[in-house]
Amino acid sequence: MPVFFIERDAIRDGTVSITGPLARHLKGSLRVRPGETVWLGESGGPRYQVRITAASRDRLTGEILSEAAPPVRPGPRLTLGFAVINRDHMEWAIQKATELGVARLVPLLTARTVVRPAAGRANHLRTRWQRIALEAAQQSMRWDVPTVMGLVSFDAWCAEPDHDACRWLLWEAPGRTLLRDRLLGQARPGSVTLVIGPEGGFDASEVDLAERHGFDVVSLGDRILRAESAVLATLAIVQYEWGELG
Ligand code: SAH
Repeated sequence: MPVFFIERDAIRDGTVSITGPLARHLKGSLRVRPGETVWLGESGGPRYQVRITAASRDRLTGEILSEAAPPVRPGPRLTLGFAVINRDHMEWAIQKATELGVARLVPLLTARTVVRPAAGRANHLRTRWQRIALEAAQQSMRWDVPTVMGLVSFDAWCAEPDHDACRWLLWEAPGRTLLRDRLLGQARPGSVTLVIGPEGGFDASEVDLAERHGFDVVSLGDRILRAESAVLATLAIVQYEWGELG
C-alpha cells in the first residue's frame, strides 16, 4: 500500500479529513471504504496509519491509529539538473529519480536540447512533472515529495550563486575522473548537485562554462548511456555510496 500525501491542516484532534482529488482517488479508483486502513503522510513530516471511519460524496474521514516520525537519512540532499528530453523518457527519468531519492529536480534547456516546450506550456509541464514526482513518491513510500523547479536555461542556471559546494556535471568524454573515484575520494557532503545532458550531450562550451562556475566534470566510463539511463545510474551510484541504497 502506498503512502498518500496530505496537508497538515487536514488533521484536527486525531481526526483526518480527506477531500479533493485524493478523496476521489481513494474512494473512486482504490475503492477505499470505512473500516479500511491507509497510510497518509505530510511531505517532510510524520506519517500516519489511519482507519477510515466515514465516507461521504466528496470526503473521507479517518482516525489516526499510529504516527511515525521521518527517519534521519544518512545521504546528502540531492539536486538533479537534467536537460529536457523526449516526453516519455523525461517522465520515466522523473519517476526513477524520485524513487532514487532526489530532493529537487531542475529541468534544463541546453544548447542541444531537441524538445523545446513553447513558452506557454512551461507551467503546464511543470505541473505535470510535479504530479509524476508526487505519484512516484507515494508509490515508493517516500517521506517527502521532491520539488520540480521551473524550466531554466542551462547557462542561466549554471551562473546562479547558491549552488551546492559539491556539484558535478556528467560528461561522456574520455579521460575524465570516474564518478566512483570522485566519490570515494571525498567525505560525504550534506548536499550534492548532479547535472545530466540531453540526448545529444552537452556542447563543449557548456562544459567549459560549468567548469568556470565550479562544477567538476565526471564520467560514468566509456559506455555511453542514454540520458535517462545516466540519471538512473548516477543516482544509484551516489545513493549506494553515500545514501541508504543497497
Ligand atoms: N554525446 C552523446 C550522448 C549523450 S548521452 C551523443 O552525442 O549522442 C546523454 C547524457 O547522459 C550526457 O549529456 C551525459 O550527461 C550523460 N552520460 C551518458 N553516458 C555517460 C558517460 N559514460 N559518462 C558520463 N555521462 C554520461
